[in-house]
Amino acid sequence: MSAMSQNLHPFRLSHHVHKCKLRTALHMRMANTATTKVSFPLQIPTSPRSPTIATSTTLNLANDPSLRSTWEHRAWVASGCTSVLVSLLKSMTGAANSGMWLEPLFMGLLGYVLADLGTGVYHWAIDNYGDASTPVFGSQIEAFQGHHKWPWTITRRQFANNLHALARATMFVVIPMDLAIADPVVHAFVGVCAGCIMFSQQFHAWAHGTKSRLPPMVVALQDAGLLISRTKHGAHHRAPFDNNYCIVSGVWNEFLDEHKVFEAMEMVVFFKYGVRPRSWSEPNSDWAEEMDASLT
Ligand SMILES: [Zn+2]
Ligand SMILES: [Zn+2]
Repeated sequence: MSAMSQNLHPFRLSHHVHKCKLRTALHMRMANTATTKVSFPLQIPTSPRSPTIATSTTLNLANDPSLRSTWEHRAWVASGCTSVLVSLLKSMTGAANSGMWLEPLFMGLLGYVLADLGTGVYHWAIDNYGDASTPVFGSQIEAFQGHHKWPWTITRRQFANNLHALARATMFVVIPMDLAIADPVVHAFVGVCAGCIMFSQQFHAWAHGTKSRLPPMVVALQDAGLLISRTKHGAHHRAPFDNNYCIVSGVWNEFLDEHKVFEAMEMVVFFKYGVRPRSWSEPNSDWAEEMDASLT
């Protein structure tokens, strides 16, 4: 794990020093950066998130094959959606047959709320630990590091391309439950929670959209706080880059950030395993968040 190569030293003091340095660097680099980049490096970086802003006028993302959906992506998403739909159907038919609606409705609501927490914990973990070579999660870690460097590309990524990794995980978890469990209350929780987690990358993409280009219903749901809002998720992409990890509704973000839950978890990981999270790292010359001039 790359974190093994990171410096090991007590966190609390240096954490604040790092953040001060990071803010200073941000102001200096934003003030000094007048560069117009002429190429778009699609290789995903492994460096930490960046505050530096440069504009790009020659991006040609429309033809970028890495953002397009393949038939394999579509097959995974179709399988994930099918597994979730079966779970929801089992919940609804079970509730209809028994006339018992209240418990499934409550468990569905609980699934929606906990899905937000689940995405926050997962997002925090892959933002801060491991690298492209990490087994199972390496490609997700790499993709999220790329997302921090080029956040706008998620709006150009096609639907199945964006969702296939989570759809695949959803399918492997939910299909066995579809086959083994008949309880409508359990399926209300599983169906809603798994569905929200699978679609969280779509909610995330919408949080990067511009209001005028989003469907009005999506904007209404974001404004109502039912989907992660553009403003709240925007804070994740600004210094100090260590908050607002939840991407379903964002309802957990305030609690988690105010109570420093992730900082506490980072301390536990550090003192138990000696591994520092990426969010403690100092900026380096590779840090550069490049903005798409066409969206500004
Ligand atoms: Zn992130
Ligand atoms: Zn984002």
